[in-house]
Amino acid sequence: MTLAPVKTPLVVKKIFPNYIWDIPSTDKVIYLTFDDGPTPKITNWTLDTLKEYHAKATFFCIGNNVEKHPEIFQDILDEGHSIGNHTHNHVKGWKTKSKDYLKNIEAAQKTINNQILHNNSEIVNHKSSIIDRQSSIINLFRPPYGQISPKQGKKLIALGYKIIMWDVLSFDWDHTISKEVCLHNITSKATNGSIIVFHDSVKASKNMQYALPKVLEFFSKKGYFFKAIKLEANN
Ligand SMILES: [Zn+2]
Repeated sequence: MTLAPVKTPLVVKKIFPNYIWDIPSTDKVIYLTFDDGPTPKITNWTLDTLKEYHAKATFFCIGNNVEKHPEIFQDILDEGHSIGNHTHNHVKGWKTKSKDYLKNIEAAQKTINNQILHNNSEIVNHKSSIIDRQSSIINLFRPPYGQISPKQGKKLIALGYKIIMWDVLSFDWDHTISKEVCLHNITSKATNGSIIVFHDSVKASKNMQYALPKVLEFFSKKGYFFKAIKLEANN
């Protein structure tokens, strides 16, 4: 991943057309994404910062972290953000047999779905309507490290998942770059419809917590809106 470019080249997007790299639009919309949470304090800081700018985002959660921090997971939902699957414990697709990889992803999805049902059943008191709503929403998946074999990708798509890659990497996790470079990676490369990768993890927090408010400020001033990735079943 350290060899990955900040901006995904068009040729890569064309080689893998079944994956979603951006959401083309003439509108000034940017899709911020946060991988690897929920993480105590950092995810809540992220939610508070997004709220200041009326920004929505997509959180690609690790199933194991959802189990450990269900209350933070609920905070993400309550704020109206989207949820994606980032495997149950951050497994590498290229080093994992397809059968095991899919099992791991399905385990994470089960955790996510159960948590959504469990946490919301008392409030809505109408489980079937939640299930109906859930089943009309496509499951989003992002492979850890961007590692996914063509076979794994095909199988996931057949199961109904949409595989969400990215247009711009912030490199927030990379301790060899400064926080200023992390910020510049985004302000110099993001445009209408860009999907941007951040991490709500301890490792990335130094760069992310510097760059995120500045990204929100920079693009808000230019008239951009920040939206969550929400794909309906009929899309
Ligand atoms: Zn990750």
